Amino acid sequence: MKALKLIAPNQMEIQEVPIPEPGPGDVTIKVAYAGLCGTDMHAYQGGYSKTRYPVVLGHELSGIVTAVGEGVTKLKVGDRVTSESTYKACEECRYCKSKDYNLCGNRTGIGTNRDGAFEEYMTMAEDRVWKLPDNVTLMAGAMSEPLACGTHAVIEVANVQPGDTVCVFGAGAIGLMVAQVAVTAGATVILAGLTVDEDRFKAAKGMGVQHTVNQQTQDLTEFIHSITDDGVDHAFECSGALVAVHKAFEVVHKKGQVIQMGVFSDDYLPISMEYLLHKEIRYMGSRSQKPSSWALAMDLFTKGDIKPELAISMVVPLERWQEAFDSEPGGKKLVKFDDFGEE
Ligand SMILES: [Zn+2]
Ligand SMILES: [Zn+2]
Repeated sequence: MKALKLIAPNQMEIQEVPIPEPGPGDVTIKVAYAGLCGTDMHAYQGGYSKTRYPVVLGHELSGIVTAVGEGVTKLKVGDRVTSESTYKACEECRYCKSKDYNLCGNRTGIGTNRDGAFEEYMTMAEDRVWKLPDNVTLMAGAMSEPLACGTHAVIEVANVQPGDTVCVFGAGAIGLMVAQVAVTAGATVILAGLTVDEDRFKAAKGMGVQHTVNQQTQDLTEFIHSITDDGVDHAFECSGALVAVHKAFEVVHKKGQVIQMGVFSDDYLPISMEYLLHKEIRYMGSRSQKPSSWALAMDLFTKGDIKPELAISMVVPLERWQEAFDSEPGGKKLVKFDDFGEE
């Protein structure tokens, strides 16, 4: 089978390797689609310290189970599936005890320290694999991981309630998933982006997002004050731009909350005390996703009122992986292995 191997920073190639056999408790998945994430770009360029070399990147996927290992009981050959990004966590630390696997300091993640999804077949622990509801296409199913990042942030971290107002900064795949989940939670959502985001603004409208604001042509603060009482309840920073962090602090009302999801290359940021302290803002991080976030994401899929696939901007076959890695940031890029005859 073919596997896209990262050998060293900026050195990646397709190699011919044996199809992996599932170990005890594991299943083998024939990958249909694998999504390219900011973390993969980071790892490709050598900027992600947890990367093991050589490794197959990719932690966003859909596919079909083709083999099951010893002791596997919940999955069978032919199941249409997607998978969490944690292969195994230590199961001993305080975070694992509450199934906060995203915070375990001793976790094995796919696409970082274990081979991930940019290969024709991959193995995964049965317990971390989710069956896709029948109404979900394999292409949409490949959006499950970013969607679960959205449910984690919106439901589990921010606890957005019906009638709340939400501003999302950044119209990339994560920003779109956060906006989409917030809409389903009953919030009024403003997606803030730039001129380059026009296509994603259209996607957001298709997902039911009520307002999009191009900050290069419209004053965001003015707009938010025209539709809210002194600002939004929640601001999600999904762009990783310092100017957006400041703006998020500006547009939430007093006692509002700012949820940080965007990643910065610089570890230390100057934050306005005028806002944080004197507005009594709650500033929180939301990292990745955990099993409970996946249950929420699968629930949204089953109900059928979400369209995460609208965030997909490019689909290329494995041979053309470089195009996806070289393309402008923005929408979600997928590598297609097999569509199994689905639309
Ligand atoms: Zn991701
Ligand atoms: Zn742990």
